[in-house]
Amino acid sequence: MRKIILADHAGFCFGVKLAVDGIAEALEKNCDDWSIGMPIHNPQEVARLCAKGLKIASNVEEIPCGARVFIRAHGEALSVLKELQAKDAHVVDMTCPFVQRAQARAGELSTQGYHVVLLGDIRHPEIRSIQGHVDGSIDVVADEADVAKLSKMRRVALISQTTQREELLASVASALVPKTEELHVCNTVCRATVERQDAVRGLAGKVDGLVVIGGHESANTAKLRDIGLACGMDVIWIENIGEFDGRWLMGKDRIGAAAGASTPEWLITEVCNKIARM
Ligand code: SF4
Repeated sequence: MRKIILADHAGFCFGVKLAVDGIAEALEKNCDDWSIGMPIHNPQEVARLCAKGLKIASNVEEIPCGARVFIRAHGEALSVLKELQAKDAHVVDMTCPFVQRAQARAGELSTQGYHVVLLGDIRHPEIRSIQGHVDGSIDVVADEADVAKLSKMRRVALISQTTQREELLASVASALVPKTEELHVCNTVCRATVERQDAVRGLAGKVDGLVVIGGHESANTAKLRDIGLACGMDVIWIENIGEFDGRWLMGKDRIGAAAGASTPEWLITEVCNKIARM
């Protein structure tokens, strides 16, 4: 059998586990249960929740009045919560506490007069939810090149999407220094993200290739792939075993396995067991 070395930290983080367990438990009570968008970025786990009765709406308009609505781990903008209130929805807030912290810091610092610079992926729901807690001026940047396009500002608060790399947060902070008189940096990268990224670095040099398991929409899974590549590993990123091309295993004996924070344990076990037997 092929040797599979699983990263020290892999799969569900605290925030995703809290959301998935909470939703699964609530679904037992058979209500009209909705989520706006996927509650977590893992299609296979979301399909499991949908089979238990969860319905996914693409926006608030699709939610029937009076329905029960789960706010996903990435959170929602305050305006969305107000719209749900107006529809008399029963809101069950599953926003991860670390995302709530980033939302709160962005909101507070904006109120104190800081221009908020948010490091992250502008299309990601977590970024939209943090943006939606800021009343004042805000910019979203993906890297130092985006910072170079900003004009000079007097007071800046830098907040990070929870799944960014701390190294990138540090270089974006450095790039902001010449742009402002006062810079307030909040390290809102969550511990689970750092642990999963460090665990991938820990596999470098010990494996012949790295299989990253997780949803293709998952930002933190994408970072694990990037870190594996930056460490010089041969990386393959799959959502499930059906996507795996066995030819990738040619000449490889020791396979590292890493999984994003929204990848369930049952999926990791299935992938590792099947690859070990190939
Ligand atoms: S990755 Fe971090 S911030 Fe995101 S849900 Fe998990 S614990 Fe929360």
